[in-house]
Amino acid sequence: MDRKLNLVRFVSVDRMMRIVGRHGIERVLTDLAACVEADFRRWEVFDKTARVASHSRDGVIELMPTSDGRHYAFKYVNGHPLNTRDGRQTVTAFGVWADVATGYPLLLSEMTILTALRTAATSAMAASHLAPHGAHTMALIGNGAQSEFQALAFRAVLGIDRLRLYDTDPAASTRCAHNLAGFGFEIAICRSPDEAVLGAQIVTTATADKANATILTDNMVGAGIHINAVGGDCPGKTELHADILRRSDIFVEYPPQTRIEGEIQQLAADHPVTELWRVVTGQAEGRREARQITLFDSVGFAIEDFSALRWLAGEAARTGEYDELDLLADPDEPRDLFGMLLRAGAGPAVAPQRPREVCETR
Ligand code: NAD
Repeated sequence: MDRKLNLVRFVSVDRMMRIVGRHGIERVLTDLAACVEADFRRWEVFDKTARVASHSRDGVIELMPTSDGRHYAFKYVNGHPLNTRDGRQTVTAFGVWADVATGYPLLLSEMTILTALRTAATSAMAASHLAPHGAHTMALIGNGAQSEFQALAFRAVLGIDRLRLYDTDPAASTRCAHNLAGFGFEIAICRSPDEAVLGAQIVTTATADKANATILTDNMVGAGIHINAVGGDCPGKTELHADILRRSDIFVEYPPQTRIEGEIQQLAADHPVTELWRVVTGQAEGRREARQITLFDSVGFAIEDFSALRWLAGEAARTGEYDELDLLADPDEPRDLFGMLLRAGAGPAVAPQRPREVCETR
């Protein structure tokens, strides 16, 4: 035996679906909202940095790291709005959960489903502090991959039971309504965003377009509304007219990241915003009065992924829903990495080797 088997737990897409299926999606969303809220309450212990983004013409690839001193997590995530044209998703992700004391990864997981779950859970958690009391109707504009998760999180956490759907692609709204049919919503499919916001106390925008879009204009936003703006999450990718922002009390995750990526990229760099964790901990006010317009300018922050992976590590251990990956080369004698390779058959070459062209650059 030349090496210790330090196996890393791996949660595949299939395992993730089984974990969600065991509990039911609404229970998972409620649990995740509680995990995110608990980590927002201890916001100050985390390492925080705006995510590292690599932009290209049609999209972005991002790395999102953070640590609470005991565990370290990072997520790899992309955002490519044109992908759906070729049958691919706009957003896919995977992530790692690691032990700070040894630096060893403990768990590697799919995070495409987990991102949709944590984004919706975070939106609903924010709305539980910001939305008008007794809200029952949500307009959901942009009925793509995130939409059903958003709807169900708002139902599970806030009791929203009426949905008004709008998407530029009517097939997307039909699919969303069909998928949500068994969950007890009263659903209206609308022909315009103006129609969708009628009678809604909460408006969620989750559209995807790498542009400064105007999904909502100022005249569409009445007093007392809570806006959950999810789709504007990159430089040059926004959803709301700037006049709405000027009338709203704006709540954000991590200002240095949101100033670059959120709706507030349209405003002056010193425009006042409130960090959501301050509301969660009672250090700042959320909704103060009935006519106030509140806006959660969501871009998605690393601590939410940390919370999601923290939840998942527990669920994987509890349910046994993971596989084991031989990911770490770990010789019995820690400094004899080369010897381990040697004993596995990578001995000296029989004849002197000529350099070969092996590295492709395309
Ligand atoms: P998706 O491509 O699956 O769905 C987007 C939907 O928006 C599509 O159905 C499209 O037809 C619709 N749409 C585009 N322009 C529209 C418009 N002008 N009016 C109405 N509908 C319009 O994307 P998705 O995975 O559902 O993600 C939605 C958005 O949320 C993306 O921009 C993504 O980057 C963002 N996102 C944010 C977070 C976060 O934490 N804030 C997390 C995940 C995804």
